[in-house]
Amino acid sequence: MPIATVSSRMLSTIEESATLTAFGKRVLQGGLPPDACDFMFGNPQEMPIPGLVEALIRHAQPQDAHSLGYMRYEPVARAAVAASLSAARGRPYEAADIAITTGGFGALASAMLAVLEVGEEVIYPRPGWFFYAALTRGSAGIPVPVDLAPETFDLDLPAIEAAITPRTRIVVVNTPHNPTGRIYPRAQLDALARLLERESARHGKVIWLLADEPYARILLDGNAHVSPAESYAHTLIAYSYGKTLLAPGERLGWLAAGPAMPEADRALLRQAVPTAQVSHGYGFAGRGIQRALPDLEKLCIDIAALQRRRDRMIGAMREAGYDVPVPEGTFYLIPRSPVPDDTAFAARLAEQGVWVLPGSLCELPGRLRISLTANDDMVERALPVFARTIAEVRARAG
Ligand code: PLP
Repeated sequence: MPIATVSSRMLSTIEESATLTAFGKRVLQGGLPPDACDFMFGNPQEMPIPGLVEALIRHAQPQDAHSLGYMRYEPVARAAVAASLSAARGRPYEAADIAITTGGFGALASAMLAVLEVGEEVIYPRPGWFFYAALTRGSAGIPVPVDLAPETFDLDLPAIEAAITPRTRIVVVNTPHNPTGRIYPRAQLDALARLLERESARHGKVIWLLADEPYARILLDGNAHVSPAESYAHTLIAYSYGKTLLAPGERLGWLAAGPAMPEADRALLRQAVPTAQVSHGYGFAGRGIQRALPDLEKLCIDIAALQRRRDRMIGAMREAGYDVPVPEGTFYLIPRSPVPDDTAFAARLAEQGVWVLPGSLCELPGRLRISLTANDDMVERALPVFARTIAEVRARAG
């Protein structure tokens, strides 16, 4: 019998991410060729947005002898988030209810560790972001993926209801949604709230809604952000600056409890969330970047340019014969793969220097995921490759 070494939780996560890791290795081991058109992840392919580096440098300067001491939250950072949330959402968020975190990962992880009992279940959307299951296991929870409605990618409330058990503790809602770009309308979130209120009462415990909102400001066509926090009092909002600043390597985000949540629950969270962050290895954002937060809060990638890039790509890809839905938010396109094997099609594109994610890697088989964080030059060089490759497939089929 083999002797157990690393935890079974980690083994499950390693196994689950094997395909992603294999793909990543293929990409990263040789390194992408210097002229690759890289549409794979939400990584910057251009120099940082104006003001970002200046703010980081300015706030890296220590003010006094204590500047670099241990600290959990910089008061200026919490105050800036509370002010910005209050202005954007029309409700008075309190600085004390904001935990500054190491990006969205840190916000989601500390929320889970703060509220989950060992073995409780976390429902999350499929297709969806890659790491909900890993984060759930990291907090000793059980991941429960629930499919979104096919084609519309709406929340499937009967499916969520069917997945709820006495062990359910968290339902994750990601809006705008990665990878589909869907923004759930208020009516859907209200209906989910009623369902969670009913199920919480039935099981005699709060089912938390974890609103994963790193794309809250990546809104296209003038769409507004619609947060579940305004529908359901027991919502925790997780946010990352990684998307808005297109600087995910800097690791800054927050977790917020809203003013509609009962005071007693907020008081518990004010202790449980920082304790969870300590338990995750002192998972607080660094002092300099927390001090910079009020300045960073004012910056954002150029949404008009992103939208132009989206429209340029959708126009040219549709003309070439691709079926590409129009995302309402986020920076992803999810065209249908012209052949059922999306990995094979992505590999064919990669041979020609165009790197996209096979949809199978984000539980979207039969599609591709294209990140519009590629630069305009990459877009222009890639479009003829997309056109040529679908034509090739069709010629072979016909
Ligand atoms: N949630 C979603 C839906 C995401 O797409 C991402 C990043 O891709 C995150 C959370 C984590 O964001 P960060 O890496 O900035 O912590």
